Amino acid sequence: MSEVQILSSIQQFLTRKHGHFIQGQHVEAELSERIELKNPATEQVIATIACGNENEVNQAVDSAHDAFINAWANTSPYERGLKLNKLADLVEQHAEELAQLETLTTGKLINLSRHLEVAQTAVFLRYFAGWATKIHGQTMQPSIPSAQGEKYTAYTVRQPIGVVAGIVPWNFSLMIGAWKIGSALTTGCTIVLKPSEFTTLSLLRLAELAIEAGIPAGVINVVTGKGNVGQYLIDSPKVKKVSFTGSVPTGIAIGQQAMRSDLTRVSLELGGKNAAIILADSNIDEILPRLLQATYVHQGQVCAAPEQFFVHQSKYDEFVAKASGAIQQFVIGSPLDESSMFGPLSNQPHFEKVKAYLELAKKNDQIIAGGRILEGQGYFVEPTLLKITDIHDPLFVEETFGPVVNVIPFETEEEMLNKVNHSRFGLTASIWSNNLSQVLNLIPKVEAGSVWVNMHTFLDPSVPFGGVKASGVGREFSDAFIDDYTELKSVMICY
Ligand code: NDP
Repeated sequence: MSEVQILSSIQQFLTRKHGHFIQGQHVEAELSERIELKNPATEQVIATIACGNENEVNQAVDSAHDAFINAWANTSPYERGLKLNKLADLVEQHAEELAQLETLTTGKLINLSRHLEVAQTAVFLRYFAGWATKIHGQTMQPSIPSAQGEKYTAYTVRQPIGVVAGIVPWNFSLMIGAWKIGSALTTGCTIVLKPSEFTTLSLLRLAELAIEAGIPAGVINVVTGKGNVGQYLIDSPKVKKVSFTGSVPTGIAIGQQAMRSDLTRVSLELGGKNAAIILADSNIDEILPRLLQATYVHQGQVCAAPEQFFVHQSKYDEFVAKASGAIQQFVIGSPLDESSMFGPLSNQPHFEKVKAYLELAKKNDQIIAGGRILEGQGYFVEPTLLKITDIHDPLFVEETFGPVVNVIPFETEEEMLNKVNHSRFGLTASIWSNNLSQVLNLIPKVEAGSVWVNMHTFLDPSVPFGGVKASGVGREFSDAFIDDYTELKSVMICY
């Protein structure tokens, strides 16, 4: 077992005194306060980043606004697509660098950083690039009475909304940042990104690559720092849309702030307490590897991943025995070691939160398998299964956003649906079964933005993604994002 060698370019990048990225260049921070970035596997400080202030946010917004008016909104759709494709090429050329940055700051297994985070960043950028030449309006024929032979025609046109604020969480910072960049740039908008204070580096590097790709200075800006950077962005009158991905409490605060800021448009991609429903006909041996992979990927720190397994009573004992055995085989270790199967949690505050949930479960004697907090350096906990029966239990109700999953038996479909839909969240769900009519009857009854059948946690740019209930407002991907990033203008002509 050995760790991958950190590239010399990354070693140098880490030692830089990082500032913000505004108007196509690095801008040194005004405040002397710095945020330390720790490798979650070792707790060693690996870099520091700047704490942005209001003045720097305003500079970044001005830069994005100028670039919108004077450059990007007037660039031909073909050229916008070309440049996003070029950025995707550069992501691939620098894939190992970006993957190492992600792994060093998030604790994501190196192969997950390579084959999911970075690879999908390029895939999504190319998908959005393709949309640039395909965004269009419609023509209409009004029925207004004609007194003197005049005629009427009407059409709609989609115009880019302007400067977008993209606020990004720490779990997939590069890929989620790229979703926001792709949506904004393909429609002709410009963007100011606010990465999470824990995982800032890969987006700073992506902004540099955008300049290399020929994307004009000011089209992509990055201001680093804490939550107040996001607040300044939302309050800026030149920001016309906020695209937020993160937790429900922050999302609600952001939505309210955006409404107060002259009804700034806002889309919210928030948390979930997602259900995987295992019906009576399921072959446990067959589904288990895929289900556990989808559940414990990135140590469960995936908004779409299941946190509750609803298992039909007839399969409950078999499921618990086999799932417990399987998760105990996970090799827990350094995320830079290609043979590790399970790494650390991403940052210390989150580690404390998950630890508190595990301690609560231990106190209540709810642990079926796993549940240990590993001693030594790094934010490591075991993949865990809990037995939860009470729907008011905090472990049933709250998103742990960790590898802490409940197994809940059910007898009837009605009882199961009542429990699944009891949640205030509604991001994703999956149904595991080959009983076609039962599955098709269940799909409309499950309250979730995405329902998968015999799969879970797969996102594809051609399929819309977003939550219902407290899991969010708006949809990303497919053509669903276009509404959020453009204004629909109606034109009527009398002739
Ligand atoms: P947070 O809500 O804590 O933070 C998200 C981002 O918002 C960070 O950049 C954060 O900055 C910033 N922020 C914090 N406070 C404010 C504020 N008052 N105003 C503006 N911005 C603010 O989420 P996490 O980073 O902890 O991410 C985990 C959450 O994200 C989970 O709930 C998960 O389910 C959800 N998520 C949802 C996804 C989806 O597509 N639906 C996808 C991925 C994650 P800072 O980090 O500096 O505090």
